[in-house]
Amino acid sequence: MPLQTHPRDFHRFRATLLTGVLLSGGCMLAWSSTALAAEAAPGVPSDDAIYQHIEKLASLGLRMPGRAASRAASDYVYAQFTDSSLQRVAFEEAETLVWQASHWGLSVNGQALPCSPMQHTFHHGVPGPFSTGPQGVNAPLVYVGNGSAWDYWVKDVRGKIVVADVPFSKNSATLFKPFMLGLQDTANTFPWDYMLVDPYSGGDFPDNYYRAMKGGALGFVGILVDYADSHQYRNEAYDAYRPGKAMSMPALWMSPVQGATLVAQIKAAKPDGVQARLELEGQLTQQTGRGVYGYLPGMSDETVLIESHHDASTTQGAVEDASGAAEVMALARYFGQLPRSARPRTLMFATMDSHFTDYAVHRAFAQRHLREGNPSGDKVVAVVSVEHIGMEYLKGPDGGWRASGRLVPHALMVSAEVKGFKEIALNAMSRFGLERTFAVSTSLVDLVAGGTLPADSDDFWKVGLPVIAYVGAPLYLYDEADTPDKVARHDLNRVARAFASVVEQISALPSANFKRLPDKTAVH
Ligand SMILES: [Zn+2]
Repeated sequence: MPLQTHPRDFHRFRATLLTGVLLSGGCMLAWSSTALAAEAAPGVPSDDAIYQHIEKLASLGLRMPGRAASRAASDYVYAQFTDSSLQRVAFEEAETLVWQASHWGLSVNGQALPCSPMQHTFHHGVPGPFSTGPQGVNAPLVYVGNGSAWDYWVKDVRGKIVVADVPFSKNSATLFKPFMLGLQDTANTFPWDYMLVDPYSGGDFPDNYYRAMKGGALGFVGILVDYADSHQYRNEAYDAYRPGKAMSMPALWMSPVQGATLVAQIKAAKPDGVQARLELEGQLTQQTGRGVYGYLPGMSDETVLIESHHDASTTQGAVEDASGAAEVMALARYFGQLPRSARPRTLMFATMDSHFTDYAVHRAFAQRHLREGNPSGDKVVAVVSVEHIGMEYLKGPDGGWRASGRLVPHALMVSAEVKGFKEIALNAMSRFGLERTFAVSTSLVDLVAGGTLPADSDDFWKVGLPVIAYVGAPLYLYDEADTPDKVARHDLNRVARAFASVVEQISALPSANFKRLPDKTAVH
């Protein structure tokens, strides 16, 4: 039975879409590449004002639930919301599992090799310490290539430490085009041979990890073969906190150059192999995650939610996702200065926590505010998400990060079941020149990607809310290289204006247009 991974990450989404196009033959949809001059919207914070939010959040330290930086981040958003005239500003709290390594290492023949801990591994889903002990795991290394089912069929990994290549998925933009509702790419930056690189995880990861675990391996070393020459890859949790899906084997990341050296060493070794010692120590703790939300009452109690997340998996987390949280704060500021009569619908603003733990805050928020008949009495009819406003950096010829000078590609995922949503999204995309953006319907994502959405609003969409979600996919997303200089600083106001327009247009739709989508969390 194939192993299922958490499909919030793009690789499932794209890979499955591409499989879909091959199976169906696809159908060509028209898209506009016309970019009109961006329109001025007085009162929308400037690039610099929005950038200041990003710098502030990035300066706090690792924004992981339970840490002072996380608390400071939610306090900052709370203060901004209050200062923007939002009402009933409050925290949404939930207990969330936080994984943290305190010690790790890999040594081969007594020589320590540079590596990083693979996050969310070596636990069984319950709080407590984990440790390979003072001696570490001592075992021979076995190289399994990409770690496909066939690779494991021909290699016995029991009692060994598996070394596997973890390439990122690369998908042809040309094959992807037939699935788009629209594409904004005035400079034609997606030529026929352009490959969309998926930074969310490797082509066969974490399946190749689970295969090693099932095969009785004692540890796992993933080589980031397509990455810049870095091992600081702070991976997401994938399915690690779902019942039966704990990643219970200790694991590490290794950079492409160091990894290639190690693989050559394994291949050249005598039959008794290369002996290694793998160490990993840390703990899984329960912490209180804290999202922030507030309201701007409008002429109707029907409500549009504008959201992103303020937590991060890297020390500064500038693009992922101080940038998204900053856009939410900018939109709160803009709409907060308008008279109530200028808001046909109530607006709710939120920044979530626990995106990099187990989404516990998202689920709690969905239950308390979004689900039909929710105890808060909120009548949310649509969700707008904004994430990752960044510049594109690729792996350079020297292995370092190389700026392409372009924006990172963005997906604009649209619940086209709601009459008017598709036009609103495409209109904003072309009118405001959201370049390198492709629009795709969430129903298609639902159909081919197994019922999830690769966006922060996944849990909100799952309880039946239609969404318009704007999500970029830079290669450095989970790397310590995600610093404020990677932010698309001169696009921040443009994105805010575009989504102010999206919110205004959604707010102007007739009530009859709104509909709940199927609640995927309902127990049947
Ligand atoms: Zn994000």
